[in-house]
Amino acid sequence: MSASTSSPAAPARSQAAFERALRLMPGGVNSPARAFGAVGGTPLFIERAEGPYLFDIDGHRYVDYIGSWGPMILGHAQAEVIAAITRAAERGTSYGAPTEAESQLAEQIIEAVPSIEKVRLVNSGTEATMSALRVARGATGRNKVIKFAGNYHGHVDALLVAAGSAAATLGAPDSPGVTPGAAGDTLVLSYNDVTQLENAFAAEGDQIAAVILEPVVGNMGCVVPAMEFLRTLRDLTTHHGSVLIFDEVMTGFRVAPGGAQELFGITPDMTTLGKIVGGGMPLGAYGGRTDIMDNVLPAGKVYQAGTLSGNPVAVAAGSATLKILKENPPYEQLERMGAKLAAGLDAAATAAGIPHSVTRVGSMMTLFFNPDRVTCWDDADRCDRDAFGRYFWGMIQKGIYMPCSQFEALFFSRLHDEAIIDETIDAAKEVLAGE
Ligand SMILES: *Cc1c(COP(=O)(O)O)cnc(C)c1O
Repeated sequence: MSASTSSPAAPARSQAAFERALRLMPGGVNSPARAFGAVGGTPLFIERAEGPYLFDIDGHRYVDYIGSWGPMILGHAQAEVIAAITRAAERGTSYGAPTEAESQLAEQIIEAVPSIEKVRLVNSGTEATMSALRVARGATGRNKVIKFAGNYHGHVDALLVAAGSAAATLGAPDSPGVTPGAAGDTLVLSYNDVTQLENAFAAEGDQIAAVILEPVVGNMGCVVPAMEFLRTLRDLTTHHGSVLIFDEVMTGFRVAPGGAQELFGITPDMTTLGKIVGGGMPLGAYGGRTDIMDNVLPAGKVYQAGTLSGNPVAVAAGSATLKILKENPPYEQLERMGAKLAAGLDAAATAAGIPHSVTRVGSMMTLFFNPDRVTCWDDADRCDRDAFGRYFWGMIQKGIYMPCSQFEALFFSRLHDEAIIDETIDAAKEVLAGE
């Protein structure tokens, strides 16, 4: 990836912190997107976060549009969530034995998400998708899975194929260390392409264990599914006895309480969750119909376990978050603010004469530096990455922290009010006009 020439001189403390981190951790980070590889320059090291803001170690404040890449829908350090975490920690941080709090969170999840009758808690979104895939294969006795180019499902070997990064090659793993065998049963199709889907099922529908997708994509930038695509998926998987898995790690409790499946009225067989469901702590979940979930050990024979699964501190954070979302739902406000921000970014780019398109569902959106509407990975891939890099650094200079890649959706919280959205649009006008 090319380093943008427009990255400004790094703040001194972040620069020193990054040099130290580079000696200690690969690329200086514990997850690659944080290294700013796609926009060049030095990542900002964060000291603390509060409400809609991030504060770096050089004392700068930023309006936060990544929200820890999704979880922080209530804003940072929300008082009731922090109190729940503190109370749980004071009772001990892990037992390796069942708690009532796990059942409470399970009830909250089952009540909110239409497809989930039974649920298993895990520690991350990656664990959730990895496990759901194993259960789908175990339940059907089949091997093959279908995924879509540009959809990301965590760093699961079998799904690390055309996962929203470098040029997508059918069936070839994205990463060294993923064996051709691990990815060999993975068919990669183009998102929103109904004909490809029909052809794949016509050719080998009786061998397909599962289809997994992001029901609104966030990991190639925000991409919206066509209703016909979702309906065809539901019909074909039902007809062929394949398990339809909605990966709602990003969309769950984000686009609606029950995720994209509630929004679009299409119920999958299994669902994976992460991000918001853990309230900012490491927690994921997978669930679905009882007859499928009862394949999981010890009810059934499909092995899946975790020393820290259902961790009491993480469960407390997730449970407190879901309680607030239910009692005081932010979704109407998020929709209003999202519409305002999308219109503002669109107008700013138009005024500046910059080829672009804006895609949005609720509080997830992307300003694509691409004149055409983006509906699949090939569209997303045609964006002007350098223009995006200049935009990113321009916004940082104005105290607005956007996702550091064209291929990541932005998120905002319920604490991003009119004034903050206006401030963001004003910044974008100036930055884009300076292109
Ligand atoms: C973030 C994400 C994952 C992976 O979750 P981790 O907690 O990072 O392992 C999986 N699927 C989707 C759709 C995601 O956005």
